[in-house]
Amino acid sequence: MDAPGGHQERHIETPRPQRQRGGVSCLGSALWEMRVGATGGPSLCPQEVAAVTHVSANGWPVLEQPYTVLWQVPQATRHFRLAPGAPGFLLSHLALWFHETIEPLDVGTWDDWAWSPPRPIRGGTTVSNHCSGTAVDLNSQLHPLGSRNTFRAESVRLIHRRLAHVYRGAIVWGGDWATRADEMHFEIAAGRSSVMAAANRLRLSPRGRRIRRANPGRYP
Ligand SMILES: [Zn+2]
Repeated sequence: MDAPGGHQERHIETPRPQRQRGGVSCLGSALWEMRVGATGGPSLCPQEVAAVTHVSANGWPVLEQPYTVLWQVPQATRHFRLAPGAPGFLLSHLALWFHETIEPLDVGTWDDWAWSPPRPIRGGTTVSNHCSGTAVDLNSQLHPLGSRNTFRAESVRLIHRRLAHVYRGAIVWGGDWATRADEMHFEIAAGRSSVMAAANRLRLSPRGRRIRRANPGRYP
């Protein structure tokens, strides 16, 4: 079951953008093939590709729910609805590491979020990366939007080291944003080749194997 839409309420302010219906968007189709099709996601018929008509802030295609995947995070008893293929695998890998190293995800209420329906980022016209299933919010009650220093200094050091040396820039942390901190938030920040390279590096890592075992066929 999907978690209730707490995250959505924080961001939805303007009506969802007009999307093409009943036709295939060339942009969407091309992007789908570039970004998702080549990452091991499902192959789609042209009608299905019509669901992809624009991209989120990081350039990944916005997805309707049927094109997302529920990724299980083993041991944490949490799942995240994310993009198929490499981006979903990488963010699940991060969530598992976070659960085991920084803070447990499964304590208290379910306050961990991932995909949300197409909507702009609050106060702007850019589409949130949650809409492309390429962002997660972890322990949002402990790390509310706009608050800084919600993590211990040692945790911040570990997060920075992890992002730099393991994901190598493929994932960034909202806690590093100068304008408005979003310390619960991690998102894909690279294109297909870098994300695929990072995912391939971690495929056979211990946590990579556990994620793949918990999600059979998702990232073979
Ligand atoms: Zn977020």
